[in-house]
Amino acid sequence: MSLQELYRQVILDHYRNPRHRAPLSDPDVSSEGANPLCGDEVKVDLRLRDDRISGIAVTGKGCSISQSSASLMSEAVSGNAVSEALGLSRRFQELMHVPADSSENGFSDLGDLLALSGVRRYPVRIKCATLSWVTLEQALGEPGMPGTAEDPG
Ligand code: ZN
Repeated sequence: MSLQELYRQVILDHYRNPRHRAPLSDPDVSSEGANPLCGDEVKVDLRLRDDRISGIAVTGKGCSISQSSASLMSEAVSGNAVSEALGLSRRFQELMHVPADSSENGFSDLGDLLALSGVRRYPVRIKCATLSWVTLEQALGEPGMPGTAEDPG
């Protein structure tokens, strides 16, 4: 199996069997994000204990990239310290903004999130992949990337 095929399988698996979909009964913080270009919507609910993400629920609708990315994000940050989750978010958004033909070798810390590295070849889809991360940052009170998840409508 080629690396590209492996990545495709990971994305399909998360799209078909999204993780952390069950709603949280008493989230401490929530945020909603939208990518009007593609019609993607993501809602992130978090339960925070001692500066850690002790519970996460991600719901939404949209294309396979946005929804699989949201599932991958939920799995990657669940149980993390808030600072770790924000660091991972920065790293993922860095990956999305390095040229598509450059190697992702320097990003091995991203683990399964690398499955989305092929999205870089389709610049219009990068916002699909980053939507859930920007929404996570908003929920945590971080400003996020400018103009990405703020939908005035
Ligand atoms: Zn999309």
